[in-house]
Amino acid sequence: MSKFCPFCGEELVESAKFCKNCGEKLEVNTFKEDNRINPVQGYNPPQIKKSHNLALIAGYICAFLIPIFGIIIGIYLVSRKDSDTAKRHGKYIIAVSFFITFLSFLAQFRFM
Ligand SMILES: [Zn+2]
Repeated sequence: MSKFCPFCGEELVESAKFCKNCGEKLEVNTFKEDNRINPVQGYNPPQIKKSHNLALIAGYICAFLIPIFGIIIGIYLVSRKDSDTAKRHGKYIIAVSFFITFLSFLAQFRFM
């Protein structure tokens, strides 16, 4: 496994103290805590964004099958403060749940 210079994006060996390309000093915890400086395309520390994937998938499935649970999971996801992805999908899940609920009401009136 290799790491990347947070200043210029050069690929570095794991034990490097300085960047061999731009000469910047590399802090030990730079890669874990400072996500703002990120010149490398596609390099995203995955530990935060992955944490709600299961709830996201369950939310979408419930939104279609059991909209009441979809709304509950959606509210749970929107209330997450650590993940913008979870918040955004939470809103989608709530919207889909309401839409499916609305459709099922329509269907009931239609077949009465
Ligand atoms: Zn560098």
